[in-house]
Amino acid sequence: MIVAVRKNKLPALTERRYNSQNNMSVLIVGSTALDSIKTPRAENPRLLGGSASHAAVAASFFSPVKLVGVVGEDFPKKYLELYRRHKIDLEGLQILPGKTFHWSGEYEVNMNNRRTLLTELGVFETFTPTLPEPHRDSQFVLLANIAPALQSHVLDQMRRPKFVVADTMDLWLNIALPDLLKLLKRLDGFVLNDSEAHQLTKEDNLFTALKKIHKLGPKYVIIKKGSHGSILSGPRGYFICPAYPLSKVVDPTGAGDSFVGGMMGRLAAAKGSIEDNLRRAMIYGSVTASFCCEGFGLTRTTKTKLAQIDRRVKELEKLTRF
Ligand code: AMP
Repeated sequence: MIVAVRKNKLPALTERRYNSQNNMSVLIVGSTALDSIKTPRAENPRLLGGSASHAAVAASFFSPVKLVGVVGEDFPKKYLELYRRHKIDLEGLQILPGKTFHWSGEYEVNMNNRRTLLTELGVFETFTPTLPEPHRDSQFVLLANIAPALQSHVLDQMRRPKFVVADTMDLWLNIALPDLLKLLKRLDGFVLNDSEAHQLTKEDNLFTALKKIHKLGPKYVIIKKGSHGSILSGPRGYFICPAYPLSKVVDPTGAGDSFVGGMMGRLAAAKGSIEDNLRRAMIYGSVTASFCCEGFGLTRTTKTKLAQIDRRVKELEKLTRF
C-alpha cells in the first residue's frame, strides 16, 4: 500500500527501448558517491554522483545494467529509488556501516577547469568489489573510474566477458601506475582524456599517444577531449566522434562517465560485431554526455526521454555528413 502511494508521487518511469529478456546487460563497477559541486553560478551539496552512477544511468537507456559499488548507511533512500527507476540491478551494491564516498569540486568560469576541494573516502576506503554469482557471466563490462587494483579485482571474478572497457583518472596515473599498466594488458578498450593520455605517454600529439597506448594492451583506445568530442583508434583506423554542440553547460561533472556508459549500453543492445557498432555507440555516448552537462549531477539525465536522445543523434549525423 505504502509502495503504491510512493510510486504515484514519483515522476513517470523513464522509458526503455530494450526488452530485458533479449538484451545483453552491462556490468558497471565504479564509485557511487555524494558530490558537492560548485560552479560560478550555483552550489549544490550532496547530489547523487560517482563514476558508476553516471555511467549506469546513461547505459540504462539502452540496456539492463548491473551496478557494483558501495555506499554508507547515510546514502539517501531517494537515490536508491532513482537507481531502481532506471531498472538498475542493485544486487552488487554493498550498503556498509559508515559514510558514503563524498567528493567535492569547483569549476572555474570557463566550466572546463575543475579543482577537487575534498575527497572523503568513507566506506570506499575498505571496499572490495565482490560480484554476485550471476554477475560473473556478464558479457559487457565497464570498469568505470576507481582504483585500478579494484578494477582488476572485478576482472578476476569474471568468466568470459565479451568486451571489457576501463576508464581512469589522473590520480591513478600519479599514485597507482604499476596497477594501471597491469590492468591495461587485460582490456579490450581503454578510455581516457587528452591530458591523461599526455601524462601516460609523455606525447603531445594525440595520434602518436594513441599508438603508444595500443602497445600497452588495449585493441581500442578512446581519447576524450571534453567539448571537442573524442577520437577512437581501433583495427579499422580512427573515428572522430563529435561532442553535441551545447551553448549552455550547467555542470560537466560525470560527462565522461555518461559518455562511456551510454556507449557501453548502446553497444550491448546492438546486434552484430563490436567493430561494426562501436562508432555509432560512441555517438550515443556523446549524446547522453550532453544531457548530463545540462543539469547538476544527474538531474537532467534522469529526465531525458529516448526521443530526445534520438533527435540529438540525428542532429549529430547531419552535422558531420559531407
Ligand atoms: P568526471 O566528471 O567524468 O571526471 O567524473 C566525476 C565523478 O568522478 C564524480 O561524480 C565523482 O564522484 C567521481 N570521482 C571523483 N574522484 C574520484 C575518485 N578518486 N575515485 C572514483 N571516483 C571519483
